[in-house]
Amino acid sequence: MLRIFIKNNLTKCLLIFLYLIFQIINLSPNLSDSIENNLLGKRVNKNARWFGNKSVLPSTPIIIMAGHADSQNIPGAGTRGEAVGLKGLQSMDLTMTDELFWNLKIRDAVVKVGKEHGLDISSYEPGVRSIVDENHPKTNWSAGARYAAQGLYVLEIHFDSYGVDGLGAGLIPPITSNLNNIDESLAQNFGRYPLFFRGGLGAARRQIRILEIGKLEGNLERNLRDIKTRENTIYQIAFLIVESIKKGINNELFLNPLLQEGDIFLRGSYQQTNPEAL
Ligand SMILES: [Zn+2]
Repeated sequence: MLRIFIKNNLTKCLLIFLYLIFQIINLSPNLSDSIENNLLGKRVNKNARWFGNKSVLPSTPIIIMAGHADSQNIPGAGTRGEAVGLKGLQSMDLTMTDELFWNLKIRDAVVKVGKEHGLDISSYEPGVRSIVDENHPKTNWSAGARYAAQGLYVLEIHFDSYGVDGLGAGLIPPITSNLNNIDESLAQNFGRYPLFFRGGLGAARRQIRILEIGKLEGNLERNLRDIKTRENTIYQIAFLIVESIKKGINNELFLNPLLQEGDIFLRGSYQQTNPEAL
């Protein structure tokens, strides 16, 4: 009888122990999720291990685009942001989502600051806010694909969704084996999304880089909306992007030369200094 009692309790203890272990394992991604950046908020926390190791000509022209600039009032218009979506505040501009409103501000600031820092940089403006056919020649995707095919570096600015939907700041790389030093630099400063993120987004398939500045919520959104901090916040974000591009162009990066066990990789996305490992 006593034996059965002890055996039953041991089983219970074992089950409780296993349950606790499971909870700890379950919690651990959330712990690293909490990596915060004062300016941008949470960074993406996905197991992304690519490296942009191809050098870029310092004269490479840069094109900056505003995400969703061609898709207002149709699916894919961008996030409304926490202020509008959850708190019921007024949109920044009734003709567009708050994401596009800020994407445009950041796009123009990056071009301005970039020119001041000597980059060959310009913006692309589709000129029409609602283009239903994604393959229309004026869409960001079509124009971006044309520029990228000519060897220009095409970067599309985005803010990620608020609440449970968004993943955080980071660069979504294009689908290519030629990830370069600008990609690497942006990923180091903002965060790193995996290759083939969501099966390879439309932009990624067209060699357009997507930069998620951060989730449109919390401090980041408050600092953008507050007229006292807006200008400085936009400038700081633009400066960080320009600094990242400059570092990438000038090859001032530290790259991990080793392929780690279990990595999912594109051959060309690793440093070539250790060809044996590939
Ligand atoms: Zn977006």
